[in-house]
Amino acid sequence: MEKVDVLGVKFDNVSMEEAIKICEDFLNKDKGNLIVTPNPEIVMRAKDDEEFKNIINNAELVIPDGIGIIKAGNILNTPLKERVAGYDLICNLLEKYKDGSKTFYFWGSKPEYAAEAKQKLEEKYPNIKIVGTHNGYFSDEEETSIINEIATLKPDILLAGLGAPKQEKIINKYKDKGYFKIGIGCGGSIDVLAGRVKRAPKLFIKLHLEWFYRLLKEPTRFKRMLVLPKFLKEVKTVAKKEL
Ligand code: UDP
Repeated sequence: MEKVDVLGVKFDNVSMEEAIKICEDFLNKDKGNLIVTPNPEIVMRAKDDEEFKNIINNAELVIPDGIGIIKAGNILNTPLKERVAGYDLICNLLEKYKDGSKTFYFWGSKPEYAAEAKQKLEEKYPNIKIVGTHNGYFSDEEETSIINEIATLKPDILLAGLGAPKQEKIINKYKDKGYFKIGIGCGGSIDVLAGRVKRAPKLFIKLHLEWFYRLLKEPTRFKRMLVLPKFLKEVKTVAKKEL
């Protein structure tokens, strides 16, 4: 698969359709597969965390989650096909396997949210199989018992919404054990599936302003978002050097 390097993080240059096809292939394999959905914030974090960067670069699928990554690909003259948001990929997989032919486990978010997401999806898709849920706040001992539960239930698709880099590190730690086929580090997606957080309206997404909508809704994200201009500045510096 063609890779696009953005500040040391190597993205797979795939469309949404191709990403879904790759997931189908993963589900037919015996080994576990890590899917990472980096946005600029995650790329900047990976720059300062070698372990995290190596985990991402060894993941089986790395999709460009934020519009900032697409912009970076263009600036670097290595354009990516399209934005493949982790949340949209998850929705496509839920829709595709709504007949219960593949199973899901939701791990993450505040107490009750993962269970609420399960309930909402079961109302929408009566045959869907979400075999278990657990919230994302746990001690080391609890981690072992959650993993034991996942090992027993063997979901095909594990959504881990524990925040980055925790979610990717945990999936990576267990992915070779055969407990799940796909582990997706999905950030706040479980909050959205539970209906606790609203995704930006389509118009905002179309105008590439989803980040702005999130800032309006959660002004406390402002500090986190200061990393965005820094990210674009660094990308431009790399692009100039490569000219
Ligand atoms: N989260 C969690 N456990 C933690 C820290 C965070 O379950 O120890 C959850 C949090 O409740 C939220 C999600 O992780 O649902 C947020 O992750 P992140 O900020 O990386 O995602 P983004 O909002 O950028 O998609």
